[in-house]
Amino acid sequence: MPTPYAYFKGEIVPLAEAKIGVMTHAFNYGTAVFEGIRGNWNAEEGVMYLFRMREHYERLAQSAKILMLELKESIDRLCEITVELVERCGYEEDVYVRPLVYKSSEVLGVRLHNLESETVIFVAPFGPYLDFEKGARCHTSTWRRVDDTGIPPRAKVTGIYVNSALAKTEAQLNGFDEAIMLNADGHVSEGSGENIFVIRNGVIYTPTPADNILEGITAKTVMQLAKEELGIETVMRPIDRTELYIADEIFMTGTAAHVTPVIEVDRRPIGDGRPGPITRRLSELYFDVIRGKNPSYKHWCTPARVRVAHER
Ligand code: PMP
Repeated sequence: MPTPYAYFKGEIVPLAEAKIGVMTHAFNYGTAVFEGIRGNWNAEEGVMYLFRMREHYERLAQSAKILMLELKESIDRLCEITVELVERCGYEEDVYVRPLVYKSSEVLGVRLHNLESETVIFVAPFGPYLDFEKGARCHTSTWRRVDDTGIPPRAKVTGIYVNSALAKTEAQLNGFDEAIMLNADGHVSEGSGENIFVIRNGVIYTPTPADNILEGITAKTVMQLAKEELGIETVMRPIDRTELYIADEIFMTGTAAHVTPVIEVDRRPIGDGRPGPITRRLSELYFDVIRGKNPSYKHWCTPARVRVAHER
């Protein structure tokens, strides 16, 4: 039977023992950074493939630096711990690995300096987040994406997800699947938990890192697949809201969302209102890659030998 474990205070412990006090700084002020890493189950091999785990931990280290958090474990060590944790948990389905580095001091006072840091990692079963077959119906959020001059979206800060939660809930309560947020100057930024891509006349466009986006690992993957497998370069440039309405195709990318076609924005169908051909091609490539089924990109997939570990 799968059993949930966590890495907490330097050890792997049952998840129920990984508890923090109510005075914890990160709980009070949102002073933590995190990652989401997908474990993609390959049933034929009995292996969980952790997708681009090292890149996620590198981004975690960058987020920690921005928030003056001390990451005590090396990136190599974090990768080792994660494989062990996933093997111990024993899930035989897609999972989400959630590492956090947080201000662990139990003190009052808003600041970043003179506080202790801790690392925690847990694993949870996690299926599809958006309907990547049918596609997502989106609207332009009334909530603007936070700016690098406010809370830097380049860092995956827990507290910043209030911005995403406001946008996601507004979208869903208004009958849409996902929000598209504009940045402070009115250009397209990203979804509540996804980067966005627009295809016009065979060219793929995506906002620049200066448009207040999280620099996505799925986005980077898809740009490489588009270039190497389809011969299409992605152009990074500011995108207007109305360019979304006249796009041939739109899709969103994220560790949770994978590659999800956007079929409607603000009640205007995108293209013919169905997932477009380039999006479908990229999505097929991507799903093979993340389950370790494409030899050219297998180096992105770290195996956790769940079945072997449980037969030991
Ligand atoms: N933007 C935001 C706001 C996100 O939360 C995420 C998910 N981590 C992404 C973009 C996509 O990033 P990635 O592909 O690295 O998961």
